[in-house]
Amino acid sequence: MFDSTPTSAAPARSPLTIRMHERDNVAIVANDGGLPAGTEFPSGLTLCEHVPQGHKVALVDLPEGTPVLRYNVTIGYARKDVPAGSWVHERLLKMPPARALDNLPIATVKPEPQPPLEGYTFEGYQNLDGSVGTRNILAITQTVQCVAGVTDFAVQRIKQELLPMYPNVDEVVALDHTYGCGVAIDAPDAIVPIRTLRNISLNPNFGGEVMVIRLGCEKLQPQRLFPPGTIPLIDERNVADIGDNAEARLDVVCLQDDRHVGFMSMIDSIMTQAEECLERLNARRRETVPASELVVGVQCGGSDAFSGVTANPAVGFCTDLLVRAGATVMFSEVTEVRDAIHLLTPRAATKEVAEALVREMRWYDDYLAKGEVDRGANTTPGNKKGGLSNIIEKSLGSVAKSGTSAINAVLAPGEKVRQRGLVFAATPASDFVCGTLQMAAGMNLHVFTTGRGTPYGLAAVPVIKVSTRSELAKRWNDLIDLDAGPIATGEKTIEQVGWELFQLMLDVASGRKQVWADRWGLHNDLTLFNPAPVT
Ligand code: CA
Repeated sequence: MFDSTPTSAAPARSPLTIRMHERDNVAIVANDGGLPAGTEFPSGLTLCEHVPQGHKVALVDLPEGTPVLRYNVTIGYARKDVPAGSWVHERLLKMPPARALDNLPIATVKPEPQPPLEGYTFEGYQNLDGSVGTRNILAITQTVQCVAGVTDFAVQRIKQELLPMYPNVDEVVALDHTYGCGVAIDAPDAIVPIRTLRNISLNPNFGGEVMVIRLGCEKLQPQRLFPPGTIPLIDERNVADIGDNAEARLDVVCLQDDRHVGFMSMIDSIMTQAEECLERLNARRRETVPASELVVGVQCGGSDAFSGVTANPAVGFCTDLLVRAGATVMFSEVTEVRDAIHLLTPRAATKEVAEALVREMRWYDDYLAKGEVDRGANTTPGNKKGGLSNIIEKSLGSVAKSGTSAINAVLAPGEKVRQRGLVFAATPASDFVCGTLQMAAGMNLHVFTTGRGTPYGLAAVPVIKVSTRSELAKRWNDLIDLDAGPIATGEKTIEQVGWELFQLMLDVASGRKQVWADRWGLHNDLTLFNPAPVT
């Protein structure tokens, strides 16, 4: 994989390129700051121009029309003759259309079952529905954005006046969002934001408490948000006595209730309700549980050409470890797997799983087509600056997070995960939308890789941030939790960093280690995916 190994005398100076596959006719420059024109490699290749770090260099002459291969996949065709040693940037590449979704190889690869990984545990909060939390948080659900200001006001009061009396509760979080009214609530796709909100409220880190603040006149009425049977009957305390038909009771504060006279009476109602929930949450303690109780969402954002070389393969190795331990791992980001779909359908555990993968790709192709774009709209200026020429190159790096295991299940956006092992949770690739949907799916731990750098974090689920390059990890030493950069220089292996991540996950899940985003309180908004019309 490495054209040149840095010598111990001058590690930064030795020219280093990384090729992902022996058939590739381009490689990326690994050195910080890139390499100048005239740089000579041991292979005899000489650079004809400056090539920035992470960007591709032609290893051989590429006549016009030649397929340019990285990861042994055609990421584009040369638009003109490109001599060996040239910088192969996006303007030189013509991107092929997305692969058709018909006749894909289906469940053809049966990954060798790997030996179970036993004996790894973490300290978590066991919930009555069988899930396990990594945090003990009071979450306040809202039916509509109209109540967000009141909720935030109440949360400040709860934090100042109540939380100090309940030391076993980690945090109070308002589940603010922009949905709930002024929307076509009966449109078929409205199911996506509605079930997302419902399932977020049931995230394992909230201990089964569902406290709701509503306005009163909004479109998203509580019975639509939580139809009968959606809140687990966890014990007698939340059961309304309505004869034989026991039903979970919702703790709802309605701001338009006649009993509320003045703003402070609303706040008083919220405080009273919160106190009851805090009482119950405070009685909970961490217990030792097997690593199989982890539900991990993996994601990347601010990707660069190293994402698919260092951080994502290390996450992929860790994904395999988690699957061997019996845990659940979700990978997502439809536009970032679309160009690698031919590598995923063969790994589907069953024909039905492969069909569900194709269904989600097709749904998203149509969704993008309505907006008159395609998956190529995904890549950002930062991705390109980091060396990723187009979405094909980005996708091949992105899917490395999924490791090598069989894909056991597919979730539509906002659905709750019910299977163990590797799961594809279909989401947009937008960082905050993907994180919100993975939270709804039930993740209790989040792993996020970044090359350009993002301070991304979530209030309710710890986010472990992994950098693709050491330069970023050094510059953002108090934002990045793990550096996968040493893989690029050969100082560490993918396996070593994968194991470091696995151990870090157990520590963070147990509350023994705090991630930087939580240390600083850097938390992004919940961002619902609403493909339905706004009225
Ligand atoms: Ca993303």
